[in-house]
Amino acid sequence: MTAAAASCSADEALQRLKEGNARFIAGQARFPTVQKEVLADLAKGQQPYATVLGCSDSRVPPELVFDASFGELFVVRVAGNVLGPSILGTLQYAGSHLNTPLFVVMGHQGCGAVEAALASRYRGVSHGARIQVLLENIQPALEGLDGSQPPELLLERAVEANVRHAVEAIQAMPEAADARERGMRLVGAVYHLESGRVRFLE
Ligand SMILES: [Zn+2]
Repeated sequence: MTAAAASCSADEALQRLKEGNARFIAGQARFPTVQKEVLADLAKGQQPYATVLGCSDSRVPPELVFDASFGELFVVRVAGNVLGPSILGTLQYAGSHLNTPLFVVMGHQGCGAVEAALASRYRGVSHGARIQVLLENIQPALEGLDGSQPPELLLERAVEANVRHAVEAIQAMPEAADARERGMRLVGAVYHLESGRVRFLE
């Protein structure tokens, strides 16, 4: 997770958000717009068809990746799509209250959080305390990997292992069996940055 220079000032960024929201309200969004009637209908309640646990990476927005509209996806995003108490609570809410039939854990090519966990594991690179806590969630997923692989291949395998690790951890939870009985499914996925393709790990 190398620091990138800010592309604009905070004020400019805030202005961009305000302008984007104004375009959205005026029905001139550059991204798929939503009718006012749909918003009014959704205000009464949500019934998303899938819950997606993804990474915070700005290049992997689930709604755009899956061309999904408002009310369709219940999304949790955290760096490295890791699990933790709040994340698990959110997933449990999705399972027991929203009853989304599908759960997806989606990692992505070139994940900075996974890369940082690899750097910490194999090169002793240290990070800020709270980033370190985040990376500790990724470490168990890296255990079976061959650290002598070329870095790009190692990262690719680590991303997939991190997804599989989260999937297995969720499946091992007591309520998972009940969820399966209710016809719910949990799948892992990896998003490819260049092609935009999502590869489901079935
Ligand atoms: Zn990421």
